[in-house]
Amino acid sequence: MQDAIEIVATSAHPTNKIAATLFHDDWHLSKTNDWPPAIEKQIGRDKKIGNSSGTIHAETACVLHAPHATGGASLCITDPFCPNCAKNIAEAGIKTIYLDHKGFDKDFFRRRGEDFENMSLRICAHAGIGVYKLWRKEKRIETIYESPEGFLPPDDSPVQQENLNEANEDVFKKQIQQAVEIHKRRKFSLCFARDEDGNVFCLTARAHPVTGYTMTDPEEALDLLTPIGKYSFIQEPVNRMLMNCARRGLKIMQNYFYCSQIPTSREQVNLVGAGLKRITIGDFERCRDRHGRHAMEQLSEAGILQYF
Ligand SMILES: [Zn+2]
Repeated sequence: MQDAIEIVATSAHPTNKIAATLFHDDWHLSKTNDWPPAIEKQIGRDKKIGNSSGTIHAETACVLHAPHATGGASLCITDPFCPNCAKNIAEAGIKTIYLDHKGFDKDFFRRRGEDFENMSLRICAHAGIGVYKLWRKEKRIETIYESPEGFLPPDDSPVQQENLNEANEDVFKKQIQQAVEIHKRRKFSLCFARDEDGNVFCLTARAHPVTGYTMTDPEEALDLLTPIGKYSFIQEPVNRMLMNCARRGLKIMQNYFYCSQIPTSREQVNLVGAGLKRITIGDFERCRDRHGRHAMEQLSEAGILQYF
């Protein structure tokens, strides 16, 4: 937490400066909420990308840049987290979150506290993530949520991972073709990624409610598909892919990222935040909303992300 607090003032955000430290075994990484350099330089801080802010939240930045697998890791954050970060944290397999007590006294939390209670904490409970409030100086910890011993979240649509002998353009096309036959017209993402030993894998992810939620109960499924304000419990396939690769310690290979349709604005900003420069799109006619198309035009014109 000390690491996060030391860098929080360096956040480029003018009003809400937030920092996070991700740690596991023998490594740690700290990030603030910030604009990816390409977006800041080419588009600027004051423009939205489609209907999404151009920033990456500190918690999500930690996951996207984690040097090793995030599965089982812990996170310290200066502020209570938003539902989108909660989804990313859950998908990245993070198991414990510590929140600085001062974050609960800020204006930002007073305005957004409801999202934290109604969504962020519910997401953590489903994913089996422990959430604690921390007083550093007093060395005091208070439990906000603790998951039952040995709890394993259900997983009815895991991100698929398969071994590859080699990665090239032909193999990529073949893998996409096969996946299109399996997933039909559903929205999904596919990518090639490497583990730390250099082994290559092909991964595919469908849109799905965030980790721990299932679509097997029709009533719950309907609930999950209904957004609460500007947030929903659905994790879009590009985000799922980014977070699940981080969870498994896999590095996505540049040039080998596919989405069956134009991703949402937020998915595209996260792709940029993850350092990707190119995406292959299955069907340019399809997009969840018009904002995604607008985001594509902005990022493509600025030369930040290439679309094939
Ligand atoms: Zn957030």
